[in-house]
Amino acid sequence: MHNQKQSHQKKDEKALVIGAGIAGLLTARVLSDYYQDVIVIEKDELTEKPSNRKGTPQDFHPHRVLPRGDIIMNRFFPDYMEDLFDLGAHNAKNDKVINYSPFGTLEITINQRSVASSRPLLEFGIRQRVQELENVKFLSRQSVRGLVTSDDNKEVTGVQVKERNGNKEEGTIPANLVVDTSGRYSKLNKWLTDMGYNVPEQERLQVRFGYSTRYYQVPAHISEKLSGISRGVPEENVGSVGLFYIENNMAQTILFNAGGSNLPSTNTEDFDKQLNEWASPMINDLIKELKPIEAPRGYRAAESVRQHYEQMESWPSGLLVLGDAFCNFDPIYGQGMTVAAIEAEMLAICLEEKDSSKVGFEHHVLQRMQQAIEPAWWLSSIEDLRWRGVEHVGNVPLKGVTFAQKYFNLYLRHAMKQAKEENDLSMFHQYMKMNGLIDSPSEIINPEMLNTLITGDGSPEEEAVLAELGELDMNKMQKRLNELMPSFSLAFDEKVPDLFST
Ligand SMILES: Cc1cc2nc3c(=O)[nH]c(=O)nc-3n(C[C@H](O)[C@H](O)[C@H](O)COP(=O)(O)OP(=O)(O)OC[C@H]3O[C@@H](n4cnc5c(N)ncnc54)[C@H](O)[C@@H]3O)c2cc1C
Repeated sequence: MHNQKQSHQKKDEKALVIGAGIAGLLTARVLSDYYQDVIVIEKDELTEKPSNRKGTPQDFHPHRVLPRGDIIMNRFFPDYMEDLFDLGAHNAKNDKVINYSPFGTLEITINQRSVASSRPLLEFGIRQRVQELENVKFLSRQSVRGLVTSDDNKEVTGVQVKERNGNKEEGTIPANLVVDTSGRYSKLNKWLTDMGYNVPEQERLQVRFGYSTRYYQVPAHISEKLSGISRGVPEENVGSVGLFYIENNMAQTILFNAGGSNLPSTNTEDFDKQLNEWASPMINDLIKELKPIEAPRGYRAAESVRQHYEQMESWPSGLLVLGDAFCNFDPIYGQGMTVAAIEAEMLAICLEEKDSSKVGFEHHVLQRMQQAIEPAWWLSSIEDLRWRGVEHVGNVPLKGVTFAQKYFNLYLRHAMKQAKEENDLSMFHQYMKMNGLIDSPSEIINPEMLNTLITGDGSPEEEAVLAELGELDMNKMQKRLNELMPSFSLAFDEKVPDLFST
């Protein structure tokens, strides 16, 4: 009822979306403006209230939407936050957050309305909005087993499905466009290979990360919500810890580590021990006040994978792919859902600009999405590669890793100093906007900023950046930065209010 009305000319065509995760829901929302019928096929049961699902094993773990994702979701589902609050999501406005890192400890206050909920609640709220769209139909308990194609395999014309209920009947559903949003474990590469396509080598970040999450009840006497983030120290293999509040007066604590060794445990005693070792004493004290609900649960993955379908000489018409099936990330940076939103928005832009039945439309969308997600992939790779044992593999080079790691160390040291000594969070806000996928990394890595950061104080962080730069001729600095850094085509001029205050 309250989805934004669109006045697009709808094609008398059918689009089909594989998977009702966040990427599938956002894709269905976009396609509903351009196609007469949209069908979302989901292998799980879609329940009438928020619940964990087998098809999304990650949904037990904390899920946050980054600022850019929030803006896009709000565009697709105006005031979606209000729905989530109605469902019981915690409003984190005025919550305090303790940020603990090797650069110091900073306490900040969230000064905007901000949703804090479990992933099932978030997904449920968005799904309800998509279910309100009259030309979108959900088929649940149906598993997509393969694609239906033209005889020459140049066109995808539908999907093969199998019921997961009753008679387990098999059949096909025709469609003019099929979008794979089936997530991290998508079968698309196999399907394409079986169709005779050469799938290019993926970019793989062999991150070997581990998550362990525990839920707690927040006792009634704790009225002020104080969450905390203890940033890990990759060089010392000390993991990160996060404490977040969600619906129903519950809190989630996560332990995270990457690189494959010293991963977080799901054994309660070992979990508490790691918590003690990794979290700052303040965060540990906060957690001790909470009542554990059940034993921790884990999630581990060997790698993050970025497909490079845009490199393929030919790509079947009538097929697209979005979300984790296209590119997935180390979740600690909270990028996956926001990237899915960025891709969905790019699909909408392409549908607006071009006729989707024109030859090469799908290839064009893949290329544009790839450009749009570059900063997210680069930023998470830079951080992941700080952990021993993490490697980047693939035929697409990753530029600027060591330089950016050192630059961000220097930047954060200055940001902390500015916050502590001048009570000024502007450098932190800028850093957050970059990591919130609102600003390009070049808003932070540029000659003017470098000029501010290099003060000649002889700090190890400054020395490390100077060593990477080689020379310090400010007239030639942009050229030197261009040599060191990738170029980002991210253009996003929206004004975003500062989220935090001291
Ligand atoms: C531990 C962890 C924590 C995370 N935390 C965050 C966070 O804080 N912030 C964030 O933005 N992202 C986070 N993510 C990433 C986030 O979960 C995904 O990026 C996001 O959900 C988008 O994924 P998706 O929709 O592509 O896939 P999914 O959400 O995995 O959905 C895929 C859907 O496809 C269905 N499906 C699969 N195969 C078939 C088939 N053959 N037929 C029919 N249906 C099928 C599945 O059942 C599922 O519903 C986290 C991930 C992990 C692993």
